[in-house]
Amino acid sequence: MSSALLNSTDIKAQALRLGFVACGLAKAEPVAESFAERYLHWLERGFCAEMDYMRRNVEMRLQPDLLVPGVRTIVCLAMNFMPERQQPAISLYAQGKDYHDVMKQRMQELMQTCGLEGRCFVDTAPVLERYWAWKSGIGTITPSGLIAVPGYGPTVFLGELFLTSEADSYDAPLPGAMPTKSGWQSLCPALTAEGLDARKCVSYQTIEHRGELPESIRLHQTFYGCDRCLRATPQFVEARPTQEPAFQPSDALLEMTPNDWRNLTEEQYRTLFKGSAVKRAKYEGLMRNINRWLKQG
Ligand code: SF4
Repeated sequence: MSSALLNSTDIKAQALRLGFVACGLAKAEPVAESFAERYLHWLERGFCAEMDYMRRNVEMRLQPDLLVPGVRTIVCLAMNFMPERQQPAISLYAQGKDYHDVMKQRMQELMQTCGLEGRCFVDTAPVLERYWAWKSGIGTITPSGLIAVPGYGPTVFLGELFLTSEADSYDAPLPGAMPTKSGWQSLCPALTAEGLDARKCVSYQTIEHRGELPESIRLHQTFYGCDRCLRATPQFVEARPTQEPAFQPSDALLEMTPNDWRNLTEEQYRTLFKGSAVKRAKYEGLMRNINRWLKQG
């Protein structure tokens, strides 16, 4: 561990300069008991569906120094992904380039600029990212479990720096940061009082699930992901278009019509989604979604 304290003001200023819309610092302590219990209960209920990685490294998820030995500070970062124009059949977050690459590159730049030691994570390690975003005060937790950043709403990607130095100051959760869940089950059966049941979630089924889509799954506007609870979040009114070119859709994607989707070839798919997170579903998975979407539409 380096003995010099991290300069939180400098880290935040550089983060804003690099295009992040929020940055907060939290002490790298074990996850608070109430959150840990809720997470364990969520796993017990089988709500993580086939995302077996959620069941692995549970202790690491709850205790950051098991993931990065010597970690003292967790810096949470958010980037606005709200595109200026949208292809309505694809979830808002996946209209542009893969956020993992964009965020990671920007976070590495931040570490270099500020001379930070540690590791950076974007969705790829056992980290309870929404807990840390809440704890570091960058946003509030919405009823559907998303993070909403003041002034930007819930259309944000999250990333974390696990640093081995102490900071000169830490942030606190925002007031009123914990929501109640009442009323959300009528919007979607996946939203339960005990957390999101991925088995019933369109987003999970159309992105993560391999094989046939369950008959009970009903697709609405999108066939890749689902934005219904995101759009229903009260803070969605705060969402505003990002200036980040990487998160804007291409003209080719914007111009796709239901008939184009129906006839999408594997070659077109590769060109259309080069460098995009949509590739996670693979061509077969996307066509499975498209066929169901056309049938239900
Ligand atoms: S993403 Fe869609 S299906 Fe999943 S919980 Fe939200 S509204 Fe329900």
